[in-house]
Amino acid sequence: MEFLFLGRPKNGTIYYSPNLQANELNIEEIIKEKIHKDVYLKNDGMCAGIAEKAYGSLKESSNGIFLGIGTGIGTAVFMHGKLEEDIRSAGHMIIEKNGKRCNCGKNGCYEAYASMKVLKTQLRNRFQNENLSSKEILTLLQNSNEITKVEDILKEYIEYLAIGIANMARICSADTVCIGGSFIYFKDILFERLIKELDRIMVPMEKEMTKIKLATLGNDAGMIGATLIN
Ligand SMILES: [Zn+2]
Repeated sequence: MEFLFLGRPKNGTIYYSPNLQANELNIEEIIKEKIHKDVYLKNDGMCAGIAEKAYGSLKESSNGIFLGIGTGIGTAVFMHGKLEEDIRSAGHMIIEKNGKRCNCGKNGCYEAYASMKVLKTQLRNRFQNENLSSKEILTLLQNSNEITKVEDILKEYIEYLAIGIANMARICSADTVCIGGSFIYFKDILFERLIKELDRIMVPMEKEMTKIKLATLGNDAGMIGATLIN
């Protein structure tokens, strides 16, 4: 029986992508016809993880997890140094009972609470300006008067983000969790808060076992990883 990957392309076909709303679409064929060159399709979170494993924050790791916090939550898990292609996205694990509807059709998914897209939407609503760019949101958060207006949103966001990281780290016995995606642009606002929250919710043994690192290759990791695939 063929196994259908949620958001994970196989044989050039996206079987089901919640964020792109692309189902059973053979992207390789479509692009190949346009540019007349060989085209290979790979999940972007996995590519970013491959790059961090080769050159970045997961280089020295044996059991390492890459989480790309962006539009959704991309995931790449390495066990004993090897990419586990069958471990699927952390973004669609349920973390809230009767929670918000996710684009995948389930309720309470991790990425419905902890993606950067969700955070930015909440911040735009609070600042009452749906046209704010990511850069403008960041500028507002760097202003001490403005950030006080959204501290409750940041607190709740970090709480959900930390739950998923703690769960994934525990399940995979991770020595390192590497955080990438567009989260990187907001690291000065979010990373210290995240470390404090993980410190609060994880037990000493877990904290000792797992280092939390930022992606060294930033938001370019996906492109770099794509060049490393044979
Ligand atoms: Zn989902």
